[in-house]
Amino acid sequence: MIFRQFFERESSTLTYLAAARPGGQALIVDPVYECTDMYVEVLRQLRLRLALAIDTHTHADHVTALGALRDRTGCKTLMGERTQATWIDRRVRDGEHVDCDGLTLKALYTPGHTDESFSFLLTDRVLTGDVLLYRGTGRTDFQNGDARKSWDSIVNTLFRLPEETLVYAGHDYKGWTVSTIGEEKQFNPRLAGKTEVEYVALMNDLQLPRPQMMDIAVTANLAGGRRSES
Ligand code: FE
Repeated sequence: MIFRQFFERESSTLTYLAAARPGGQALIVDPVYECTDMYVEVLRQLRLRLALAIDTHTHADHVTALGALRDRTGCKTLMGERTQATWIDRRVRDGEHVDCDGLTLKALYTPGHTDESFSFLLTDRVLTGDVLLYRGTGRTDFQNGDARKSWDSIVNTLFRLPEETLVYAGHDYKGWTVSTIGEEKQFNPRLAGKTEVEYVALMNDLQLPRPQMMDIAVTANLAGGRRSES
C-alpha cells in the first residue's frame, strides 16, 4: 500500500493519501485548499489517479481542497451522510464500506468534535479526523460538538478496534505523526483513568479561542471549498 501523510503548517492539518499500488487509483483524506498543487504533483509523480477526495467533517480551521481536487482531477467527493455540504458526490453511512481500486475503507460514525464527523478504517489503521488526536481529543465547543458524544465515539467505537491499530489524526500541534489505539487508551491524558463525567467537565471547561478561519472556512466548505472572492 502507498500511504503518505502531509502536514499543513497554518492550520496544523494532517492529510493522508492512500493507494493500493503505483499506477492505481488513490484516495485523499482531509486535503487543504492551499496544498492542492502539491497533491496534484505528488499524484502525477506516483502515477496515481485520484478517485476519491474525502473530508472527515466540515473543517472550521481551513478551506477544504475537495472542490479544487474534483475540478482538477475529476475525482468524486465523499463525506459522512450527516454533512450539510450539498455539493458532496457521495455520502456514507456508519459501517459502510468504500472500495477504491484494491483499498477498502470502512466508515465509522464518530460524532463529538462535530455532529457529522466520521472516522475511516483502512486495514490496519484508522483516520480519526479530529475526534481523537495524539494524546488529545478534538474540541467539542462549536459546530454542534458534544463532549458526551466525543467520549462515546472514542471509548465505544475507536477504542474497540484492535489495540495495535495505527491512529492517524486530522491535526497535531505538538509534533506527533502517528499513534496506536492501545497507546491512546493507556496514555491519552484526557481519557486514561477518567470517567465520562470527568471527561465532559474537562472538555466543557477548555475555554479555547474561536479558530481565526472559522467564518471563512465553514462558509467556504459548505459551499464547495473555494474561497469566496468578496
Ligand atoms: Fe475539525
